[in-house]
Amino acid sequence: MTPEPRPGLLDIKPYRGGVSDAPGFEAPIKLSSNENCFGCSAAAKDAMANCAEQIERYPDGGVHRLRAALADKHDLDAERIVCGCGSDELLQLLGKAYLRDGDEVLLAQNGFLSYKLIALQNGAVPVAAPETEDLRIDAAAFLSKVTKRTRIVFLANPNNPTGYLMPGEEVRKLQAGLPENVLLVIDGAYAEFVKDEDYEGGFALVESCKNVVATRTFSKSYGLAGLRVGWAYCPKEVAAVLNRVRSPFNVNAMAQAAALAALDDTDFLQKSVDHVAHWAPKIEAEVKKLGLKAYPSAGNFVLIGLGSPEEADALEKFLVQRGLILRGMRGFGLPGFIRMTIGTDADNQAVLAALADFAAQ
Ligand SMILES: *Cc1c(COP(=O)(O)O)cnc(C)c1O
Repeated sequence: MTPEPRPGLLDIKPYRGGVSDAPGFEAPIKLSSNENCFGCSAAAKDAMANCAEQIERYPDGGVHRLRAALADKHDLDAERIVCGCGSDELLQLLGKAYLRDGDEVLLAQNGFLSYKLIALQNGAVPVAAPETEDLRIDAAAFLSKVTKRTRIVFLANPNNPTGYLMPGEEVRKLQAGLPENVLLVIDGAYAEFVKDEDYEGGFALVESCKNVVATRTFSKSYGLAGLRVGWAYCPKEVAAVLNRVRSPFNVNAMAQAAALAALDDTDFLQKSVDHVAHWAPKIEAEVKKLGLKAYPSAGNFVLIGLGSPEEADALEKFLVQRGLILRGMRGFGLPGFIRMTIGTDADNQAVLAALADFAAQ
């Protein structure tokens, strides 16, 4: 006899992050995890170095300064901001707090991988809302899958890995169509990259509804993935729950200091956002010229469609042999696809050149 975990847990396939080495290359170009190609703000690095001087101290468990700065920047109520060890922790905690055995968790057919894991970890059933052939989704597609057992709807907007941005009107329609006891989680991991005027990142909905939570992260546009800082804007009842289930010091001192400094460095953020806005449509167009499929992306990555899963595998291998690491999408349930994080000018040119050689074979 051995200690037994809760039923179903061992059926979960552990999450596998993006690969980070290419045999034979000392410094391969890693474009597999949607990280920031410019690193992070220099001010954030200074803040970390300063913080190291007092690292024997426990962090502020209430994350007061960072929450106040976020509230100020986005014009929100600091009391209803909860910070986490990455936004992923907050998504996890929402699952832990709100899901019961047999509940259903609704996500887009090609939604973010974490959502499925969160459902399974909590004895719930992941239910996929159908996407169109060109990987779009609307409110009706989600609402058609709502049942009496639906407890949480996870919507990444923009979505990863498809890059699809659901128009604001559709997001509001989705909220309006959900029963009041269903939590709508709008995951804005790529919100800062969005140019659309009508973007519904969730903050306005959180103000007007009791069943919407909006999450954000410092991992992507701010380039602090390694530190793990994210946050959620919540109705006060949900914030009260999250503050009961999170661990007391879930955001470490260095992460708090760096995030605070990064928030102030608007130049770094603008540079990152402008770079992505420049490259995303360009990569999409170039990839299409080569006869491959590419999808319009509102994030810092582009999803590329090959003719078959075998071709996608071959392309992934071909690129690794050139020191270029992209993310094959087999693990995401999209075996004929590969995802490219937008890199520096040189990175992107190297990938486009390699794609052209691959297409010419
Ligand atoms: C990267 C990503 C996250 C996780 O971000 P962390 O804050 O680093 O945990 C959440 N959602 C989506 C859609 C992502 O792509």
